Amino acid sequence: MNSFSEKLTPHLKKLIENGSNAISRQFIAGELKSTPERNFISHDPLKEDNFIPVRGIVHKYSNRVLWKLSYECAAHCQFCTRRRQVGSKSGDLTKKDIKAGLEYILNHKEIEEVILSGGDPLFNPKVLNYALEGLIKIDSIKSLRIGTRLPIHCPQMFDNPILIKTINIISKYSKELPIYMLIHINHPDELTRESVEVIKKLRNKGLILMSQTVFLKDINDNTEILDKLFREIYFLGVIPYYIFRCDYVKGLESFVCDIKKEQEIMTELTKKLSGIAVPTHVFDVPGKGKIPIPLNFWKKIDLSRCSDFEDKEVLI
Ligand code: SF4
Repeated sequence: MNSFSEKLTPHLKKLIENGSNAISRQFIAGELKSTPERNFISHDPLKEDNFIPVRGIVHKYSNRVLWKLSYECAAHCQFCTRRRQVGSKSGDLTKKDIKAGLEYILNHKEIEEVILSGGDPLFNPKVLNYALEGLIKIDSIKSLRIGTRLPIHCPQMFDNPILIKTINIISKYSKELPIYMLIHINHPDELTRESVEVIKKLRNKGLILMSQTVFLKDINDNTEILDKLFREIYFLGVIPYYIFRCDYVKGLESFVCDIKKEQEIMTELTKKLSGIAVPTHVFDVPGKGKIPIPLNFWKKIDLSRCSDFEDKEVLI
């Protein structure tokens, strides 16, 4: 099975050269194999491609849309859910696409929230600026989210004048409506001095910062590692929001952890950390939504199956 193309920034290369196994496991491409326990068949288990009314927009839930502005990122995380798309220029939205997306959102008053994603929207700041300028004028939009991993992939890019302008625009608009910046962080090795500086700068701009993490086998499925990670994130002023079970994408089998182990780790963290510092542990049920995984305080729970939003049984 082909690996996802490898793309690294000089910043990540340096961390690998300095011996970070966690960074090398996440970014160095290797042959992806199914495991004896798992053999996924879908490249799009979240069924995003079934809900595209306009190029770039995924409208799966009534009151919110995901808007993929570009498929490009500064680096390629080998466990990426969207590895079927990421790295391709074909996802870069044109001004015409953005106009069509804004019109769709304007005409669907039930949409209250837009999640700007990709790829990494901060890696393509000109397109992001254009989308933000339009979104801010739509009265029915009550909040925005921007998902990014750029502070981890390439903190040096935040010295780029175009990105500085974008951050200033986001900061200005965040006075008019809540803008949540969701930073993808998986391991304490990612919180380098440079990345921490960027996070502090973003916080000083008045942005609401939250984090997202993916449970990754032999990378962060360890209580001490995640304890350190969530403490550091929390004390930086970033709220740990979600920790995802790795999506069941074809080729990602070796990244998926044992669910019982995930549950035990989250239970231990709940005992040790402040409530705000413990993210919600979720499994994104294919085509449905995020189901919280129960902690180990509740007895006789079968973790091999759950019910989706429509009460249909799903095997984990
Ligand atoms: S930053 Fe997100 S979209 Fe980009 S490669 Fe990593 S996981 Fe995929």
